[in-house]
Amino acid sequence: MWKCDKCCRSFAKNNQSHSCRTSTLDEHFQNKEDQRDLFNSYIDFVRENVGDFKIEAVSCCIHLVNTFTFSAVWILKDKIRIDFASPEKLSNTRIFKTEQPSANRYVHYLDIETKDNLNEELINWLKQAYYLKS
Ligand SMILES: [Zn+2]
Repeated sequence: MWKCDKCCRSFAKNNQSHSCRTSTLDEHFQNKEDQRDLFNSYIDFVRENVGDFKIEAVSCCIHLVNTFTFSAVWILKDKIRIDFASPEKLSNTRIFKTEQPSANRYVHYLDIETKDNLNEELINWLKQAYYLKS
């Protein structure tokens, strides 16, 4: 299985040609309007503390893109979920899942339930992700 980085869809063949199906931010907040405030706080927090980026809504999630996607966001019913990459495996109770897509790349998943979760520790992780070479 190959997963397109741009639209998150999976295909049987590597680099299979397709037109990336994008989505809108509003689609992600359908029946989850309550999370918009927390999402906006996350966006402001990253812009202020890490750097500027584009927001791209794709079918699976919302991408934060500088020259590549350095963090993805999923809007859940009662919280938001993010991922970010790092060159080494992090061990921390906030991180509930880690994937290793390549030798020197780990992708970590964590949930943000309140604005208190937007702290210094997260800034340091996101900075690493932001400046990773893709
Ligand atoms: Zn695609």
